[in-house]
Amino acid sequence: MSVEYEAVIGLETHIQLNTTTKIFCSCKADSWDDAPNSNICPVCTGLPGVLPVLNRKVVEKAVLLAAAMHAEIQVLSFFDRKNYFYPDLPKGYQISQYDHSLARRGYLELPIPASADPNGKGYVRAVHIHKLHIEEDAGKTKKERNRRYVDFNRCGVPLVEMVTEPDLRTAEEAGQYLIRLRQLLRWLGISEGDMEKGNLRCDANVSIREKGSSVLNTKTEIKNVNSIDAVKDAIQKEIERQIREVEKGHAIKPWTLDWDDNAGVLRMMRSKETEADYRYFHEPDLLPLEISAEWQADILEGLPELPLERRARFMRDLQIPEYDADILTADHDLADYFERTIGLYKGDVKKISNWLMNDVLRMRNEWGMSMSEMKLTPAYLAELVQLVDEGKINITTAKNLLPKIQESGKNPRTLVEELGLAVVSDDAAIRAICAKVVAQNPVEVKSYREGKETLIGWFVGQVMRELRGKADPKLTQQILKELLK
Ligand code: ADP
Ligand code: ZN
Ligand code: MG
Repeated sequence: MSVEYEAVIGLETHIQLNTTTKIFCSCKADSWDDAPNSNICPVCTGLPGVLPVLNRKVVEKAVLLAAAMHAEIQVLSFFDRKNYFYPDLPKGYQISQYDHSLARRGYLELPIPASADPNGKGYVRAVHIHKLHIEEDAGKTKKERNRRYVDFNRCGVPLVEMVTEPDLRTAEEAGQYLIRLRQLLRWLGISEGDMEKGNLRCDANVSIREKGSSVLNTKTEIKNVNSIDAVKDAIQKEIERQIREVEKGHAIKPWTLDWDDNAGVLRMMRSKETEADYRYFHEPDLLPLEISAEWQADILEGLPELPLERRARFMRDLQIPEYDADILTADHDLADYFERTIGLYKGDVKKISNWLMNDVLRMRNEWGMSMSEMKLTPAYLAELVQLVDEGKINITTAKNLLPKIQESGKNPRTLVEELGLAVVSDDAAIRAICAKVVAQNPVEVKSYREGKETLIGWFVGQVMRELRGKADPKLTQQILKELLK
């Protein structure tokens, strides 16, 4: 009998916080578009005699994330020097947090959607967070032809490092974790969370074991993966490689693997450093970080309802399907927009959800704006759908009105009047057109009367054409049936 394997995966993520300035100096933090070495100073380049000063905003953003991950925020934590030699690290050490980190033990209840579940049902995976700490980033080196350049702009940019327990079981789950983490970072407004830009980075630790076992076997660590798809791809390839090795009777070695995105392959980088190599010790130039109860309470006042909570509430309290709830909580702006709209609308909230998911989002993407910038406000959307419900306009007219509202900023009722779009539901007016259509088409009338009743649709179409699509379709059909009897 062949053995069934399962993968064991833990992720270490580095999150670049979107503060204005760096973690220990007042240089600009985000220098994505800037010339190399244009945002540096004696502190972040480690010149002798300088002292780091901790940026409060870094702590506040990290605390928000820790709280959102349900982690235990430590009243007292320490900064440590992690010593290693590399050209992009001018001080020869990185200021990080080692054994007393800002927060520890948290979790995320990760919903795995039906589409990502091999059994097609969907499930929840609890992912535990081992620890969360703050640290400074290093610089960058770049090779061009046979020269190597170094750019210190990124030195001292604030990072949160967050390490999960080895709780993930598939490449797909790892991808879902990153999607949810990115959503959370944007929701909290603490990071762009963009892997392609490097402000969300991920190292994946992978091992395999016999399914049902609880041992932790030797793992490998995959580095330099810069998109969510690449993380999934790399993990899947590594799982398959380990299974092949084990089946051949080989032992897994604790390698660090480098993902080559162009080739889609993993390469061995080095065998792993041990922590003793870093000679950690407390940073003598910084006081222990104390987060008083008052400060913590102050920060947590800024903690909004979390995306997964809101998603669950939409499903539970509003009976919105999971698929819709996922889209409607994709960003904070959109979720707010939805809630404001249903607050103003008298009818089935699922209708608003459909309008948002299908028409409004498409239009927003075409216009390239955020929900809060749209001239089509929640009040206007509610009014528009209400007009359809009341039979004042038909659905096609309503859809055509969307861009007109967005262009003009006028409310739907005014536009319907100005443009003469109201449904004609005046019995006499429709009856007159119906009579005209019947009189002008004797051949069709004859075959209808001889039993070809499907022609009714064709007659309705003729009336609609005369009335430029504004005839009340039910009434039209009813009148036509009378006249054709
Ligand atoms: P290291 O000694 O390599 O730093 P840690 O125990 O600090 O290892 O864990 C680093 C990451 O690797 C964490 O995300 C953890 O969940 C994950 N991890 C630990 N052991 C395993 C394992 N056997 N298989 C897969 N991932 C693991
Ligand atoms: Zn600086
Ligand atoms: Mg470790």
